[in-house]
Amino acid sequence: MTALVWIQREFRIDYLPALQSALAQADRVIVAYFHDPVYSQGEAASVWLAQAIESLQRDLTKRRGSACLWILEGDFESHFRSLLQEYSVHKVHYSFQVGHPFFEMQQKAQRVCETLEVGLEPHFSEFWFEPGEVLNKKGEPYAVFTPFYRNLQTRLDELVPLEKTRTDLKKLLPVASDDWTACESLNRLSRQPWAIEMMANWEVGESAAWQKFLSFVDGKLQDYEMQRDFPAQDATSALSVYLNFGHLPSRMLVFEFRAISQDNDLQALLSWQRQLAWREFARLLLWFFPYTEEMPFQRRFVDFAWEGVDQRTHIWQRGRTGIPIVDAGMRELWHSGYMHNRVRMVVASFLTKNLNQHWLIGKQWFDDTLLDADPANNAMGWQWVAGCGVDAAPYYRLFNPLRQSQQFDPDGDYIRRWVPELAALPNSAIHAPWQYPEECRAVGVELGKDYPLPVVDLEKSRLRHLERVESLKSVGLEGI
Ligand SMILES: Cc1cc2nc3c(=O)[nH]c(=O)nc-3n(C[C@H](O)[C@H](O)[C@H](O)COP(=O)(O)OP(=O)(O)OC[C@H]3O[C@@H](n4cnc5c(N)ncnc54)[C@H](O)[C@@H]3O)c2cc1C
Repeated sequence: MTALVWIQREFRIDYLPALQSALAQADRVIVAYFHDPVYSQGEAASVWLAQAIESLQRDLTKRRGSACLWILEGDFESHFRSLLQEYSVHKVHYSFQVGHPFFEMQQKAQRVCETLEVGLEPHFSEFWFEPGEVLNKKGEPYAVFTPFYRNLQTRLDELVPLEKTRTDLKKLLPVASDDWTACESLNRLSRQPWAIEMMANWEVGESAAWQKFLSFVDGKLQDYEMQRDFPAQDATSALSVYLNFGHLPSRMLVFEFRAISQDNDLQALLSWQRQLAWREFARLLLWFFPYTEEMPFQRRFVDFAWEGVDQRTHIWQRGRTGIPIVDAGMRELWHSGYMHNRVRMVVASFLTKNLNQHWLIGKQWFDDTLLDADPANNAMGWQWVAGCGVDAAPYYRLFNPLRQSQQFDPDGDYIRRWVPELAALPNSAIHAPWQYPEECRAVGVELGKDYPLPVVDLEKSRLRHLERVESLKSVGLEGI
């Protein structure tokens, strides 16, 4: 009997139940990745994807002796169907994924399997618990994080660890055609100069992910709680992209925490685990409310008068708004494919509240430019900031970019790194150069020429936002 392990976004060998159960149940196992341009991801994430595919191919080759990740480029449905037919596959094993494009592909796979009478076995290995296992007292999904997390913590003893994949991979079928050993279109993208520059400081793959996790625990974790909000500090784990590409199974980190908690500061571990639980929360939200990828969770925002793409969108995207902390974040994103969490909140609030642009515009830009672009985290993050999601920041509260900048980048180090034309300004002036024309002149910065004047007046735009949301006060909070 032949089984297919369908890899969507789980680029690892160990702790992969789809592979584990295929090896246990079948005589021959095909491991395949289908690359259909119709279902492609954003550009930055596609560059990571190219390297993730390569690294899995390399790791499997090392363990099996020959290339055995089958890579099929083109129309997903027809490749999927012909592979099942040609190799008389009796069962498909896969890890369930939420969000676009995974929902659509999973639906297609289900239809094909039904038609061909092939078994289909989903695994919920990318979650901590299966959707529906952690519900509130009314048996409903949580829409507020804190009670969700409180309940989750009491359930952690019930969490089932994922098994390490057995070492014998002899059942894996080597790739049938040399054309199927690499993904050429993605490789072409990852050879672009901008992509090479973006990836210069990253190492992709399963073992790199574990090393990064362990060195985070040994080093930065101790100060994580104190430092994590300061973008100039390299204080967070930078593991989001490894988690999203499945190099590192989030569930296993909970077990790692237990194993290492004796030698580590428990408070620090719990603080990081709490952040990881936000990821879990986002995944469950998209499972229960799939429309939230495109629509606000709160009904009262459906007709909200956000504006569409215009010149200001481009200015924001390229980090030319004239608000240094916003520009630093947007330039960090453009050059490195990453942005610090605190700054993500600031730039998102600026776009949706000061510029009144639709949160979907920002979400799409993040989808395209973030290495860690993730349907669940991105939708939740944008809706949270815009005020229209679950557990959202109150719609009437704006992040004041100046105050955020002074508080979390007090010495202006982050701004100086990403907005070098302001580097010579004193700390007092760097957060709001337009308020310090003398200081700017003194260091040769001509506002409006060397660095833009603000695209919007912060105070006036704050008041306009408050006027716009006034009408929402009388409308209920519930989801659609
Ligand atoms: C507008 C907006 C958009 C975002 N888009 C994405 C996205 O597309 N992909 C993505 O992975 N994260 C997104 N986030 C969440 C968060 O910014 C990143 O996960 C985090 O910055 C990644 O850095 P890190 O790995 O060093 O995080 P750490 O601080 O080390 O946190 C550990 C892990 O916890 C999870 N996590 C931390 N904060 C959050 C959060 N607020 N929501 C969900 N999970 C979290 C991540 O998996 C992260 O890797 C977004 C946040 C906002 C405000």
